[in-house]
Amino acid sequence: MATRIGRRLRQRVAIMKQENVLGHMNDGVEHGFCICNDRGKLIAGRETSGDHYNVSVDMNCPAGKPIGIFHTHPGGVPEPSSTDIKSARQHGVEHLCIGVPEKGVIKCHRVSRKA
Ligand SMILES: [Zn+2]
Repeated sequence: MATRIGRRLRQRVAIMKQENVLGHMNDGVEHGFCICNDRGKLIAGRETSGDHYNVSVDMNCPAGKPIGIFHTHPGGVPEPSSTDIKSARQHGVEHLCIGVPEKGVIKCHRVSRKA
């Protein structure tokens, strides 16, 4: 189960999205990057893209350690899929942020450690 979390993380991810992704968010392809915590500062990992709803995110942080994953759901809903939650648990990250490019919506969720 994933529950909605804070505005601060959402805002920070929106900024990272702008920094990382330059105008190709509406191409129908899923884009993603890991969210890294570098001594309290949130930074983005390398952006990757993939098939619709199937992007594998590069979990190597430029600095700090991965705490979450941001990816887009092109034309979809900003809620994490069961695959997203499973993959977040596999990577051992706590946060999932989903963006819907067309609507400019970003929602962040905290992934519970229980099944
Ligand atoms: Zn997803």
